[in-house]
Amino acid sequence: MIENKKIKESYITCGYCGTKFQSPIFFGDTDSFDSAITAGNTAQCPNKNCRKMIHCNRKNMSYLLADEPGGFVGDDFSDNKA
Ligand SMILES: [Zn+2]
Repeated sequence: MIENKKIKESYITCGYCGTKFQSPIFFGDTDSFDSAITAGNTAQCPNKNCRKMIHCNRKNMSYLLADEPGGFVGDDFSDNKA
């Protein structure tokens, strides 16, 4: 069983231009983060040269935990830890 944790901020990375921006959808915790992803939410890229609608999924979303200020969680950041 995965522990439900509080989320401080969540981010989306645009797959078209690579812009990372704060999610317009607020996730209070990791449980709502999971359910929001499976609900198929979309967000618009804030880059004025892009403006694509992005489908939120596990690959392009990441979050910062309120209780763990050490770093981001998510596939997008797993390569940047070194
Ligand atoms: Zn974009």
